[in-house]
Amino acid sequence: NLILAFETSCDETSVAVIEDGTKILSNIVATQIDSHQRFGGVVPEVASRHHIEWITRCIDQALAEAGVDYPDLMAVAVTYGPGLVGSLLVGVTAAKVVAWAHHLPLIPVNHMAGHLYAARFVGEFKYPQMALLVSGGHTELVYMPKEHEYEIVGETRDDAAGEAYDKIGRVLGVNYPAGKTIDEWAAQGQDTFHFPRAMEKEDNLDFSFSGLKSAFINTVHNADQRGEELNKYDLAASFQQSVVDVLAEKTMRALDQYPVKQLILAGGVAANHGLRDRLDHDMAKYHSNVTMLQAPLKLCGDNAAMIGAAAAVDYRHGDRAAWDLNAVPGLMFDRAKE
Ligand code: ATP
Ligand code: MG
Ligand code: FE
Repeated sequence: NLILAFETSCDETSVAVIEDGTKILSNIVATQIDSHQRFGGVVPEVASRHHIEWITRCIDQALAEAGVDYPDLMAVAVTYGPGLVGSLLVGVTAAKVVAWAHHLPLIPVNHMAGHLYAARFVGEFKYPQMALLVSGGHTELVYMPKEHEYEIVGETRDDAAGEAYDKIGRVLGVNYPAGKTIDEWAAQGQDTFHFPRAMEKEDNLDFSFSGLKSAFINTVHNADQRGEELNKYDLAASFQQSVVDVLAEKTMRALDQYPVKQLILAGGVAANHGLRDRLDHDMAKYHSNVTMLQAPLKLCGDNAAMIGAAAAVDYRHGDRAAWDLNAVPGLMFDRAKE
């Protein structure tokens, strides 16, 4: 029951071998961060080239580390969206080639479903379920009445949480991606700036982070012009407190509106210690009857293991890609698979 999974939606080239949807036999992640850092973000053309350069090595390594060969596989799985089109195409093409050559079914996987399934390595899923997915390109609350059914009930109206971290990080001179460093600085500072908490008290499940980003940037620039240097730890702590307050508040609101058995926290920003601790606290206080699974720290960022876990479920539900499977950069949960 082995799945060979591919993930190339952004700047990580990753191939994994997953057994029974829950056991990681190998999970090779080749990151390109160094190549993009000097540009302060991911350059799509550079990303595609890297994927092409690394993909076959990642396949060989994933199989070798798992100690398996092509005939042992049950299926091949690949992220076909959302993401950068050129990056996605490398994974989709490689997965097609392997599946075709070895007469294996090809499973098309949504990258955000993949993020969600990173939490499956922590424990079993229970439905109905709510997920807070926070990453570099997405910030959304997803309601799942049952397995394999996704409904977005709240999302950001502008920037994603991770994107906001990366943008304010740039202002503080932190290399891309800035989330981890800002998180570390935040732990050493205090919320002295009280930045706005956009839409926190509004009666909906949506988010907005661009106002916070602007308030942050203005504060730093104004201080600069006065020749004043602000405490970077307090700036980080204030920014993070604002992000975490809004994410936690809206998640609690979602749980009030949708009675669920379980909450999932996943996506790159799910690695944030402030957010993890706050949700631990709030869930114990307000929703102690709802269990929570937080994606493991090491599987919050992009990786193929999570794609393999999601694919195992998709496979059971009969999802199969045709040989003309294309990358879908703007793929959404509620849109029919193309
Ligand atoms: P998407 O999944 O939406 O397509 P992506 O794949 O580029 O976007 P991920 O890899 O899931 O995004 O997450 C990367 C983001 O997570 C970056 O913006 C990064 O700054 C952020 N991030 C990583 N660690 C932390 C942390 N500890 N605190 C806050 N943000 C973090
Ligand atoms: Mg990445
Ligand atoms: Fe991602």
